[in-house]
Amino acid sequence: MRPNYTLPRLHLPQTLDGEIVLSKEHAHYLGTVLRKGVGDEVRLFNDEDGEWAAVVVSAAKRAMTVRVDLQLRAPHIVPDIRLLFAPIRKHRTATILEKATELGVRTLQPVLTARTQFPKLNLERARAQIIEAAEQTERLDLPELCEPKPLFDAVRGRTLIFADESGDGRDVIGADLEMPLDLLIGPEGGFSPEEREQLLDMPSVIPVSLGPRILRADTAAISLLTLVQASCGDWRHI
Ligand code: SAH
Repeated sequence: MRPNYTLPRLHLPQTLDGEIVLSKEHAHYLGTVLRKGVGDEVRLFNDEDGEWAAVVVSAAKRAMTVRVDLQLRAPHIVPDIRLLFAPIRKHRTATILEKATELGVRTLQPVLTARTQFPKLNLERARAQIIEAAEQTERLDLPELCEPKPLFDAVRGRTLIFADESGDGRDVIGADLEMPLDLLIGPEGGFSPEEREQLLDMPSVIPVSLGPRILRADTAAISLLTLVQASCGDWRHI
């Protein structure tokens, strides 16, 4: 059955069963912001349980209890795409987090590169942005957000699609990619020659071009994720 998209969606990490007392934040959002009360319906979701219909059974000022009813959607995990991105200025990093969540990334790995100007990432705020994007985009799982790491500590043996602004990269379309995939986007200042050389020396690294113009890092992240999902991800109806 198609879910009723007008019903609010809340990500709850706990098992979706029986009666659940909502967090203060969720009670505030549901009760005060959305003005929901006893008898109103809401949708609850998380990675393990999928999405469930629930109904408000008690609503006090800062406390609200819901009762879980029936399952609306089985759990669905997005393709195993890990996005390695150099944190950039705050609002553009927020764009990367939100768009990557909508575009179905599974893991977000901030990486510190030679030219990263904004190494500090407020993980608390980032996590809240990710949850909000996941609720809005009707995702059933949350991307995992990792602590920032130096670039080469974050690179594993998986196939790494390296968005190489130098112009020597291959086309993504037709590159015959398959999951799992790591994607790498650099900072506003790009990659240093040493970083590019070290990346190109790695057997699992595939440098790709995102066209003849220089894209902002957030545009590059959105573009590369779109190409990957459309060519070998969960946008294709297999
Ligand atoms: N200051 C750099 C550009 C950095 S753009 C310069 O002028 O060369 C930020 C990141 O977005 C880059 O590190 C790269 O990962 C990606 N990117 C931007 N444009 C791209 C393109 N045309 N092809 C491939 N990657 C690109």
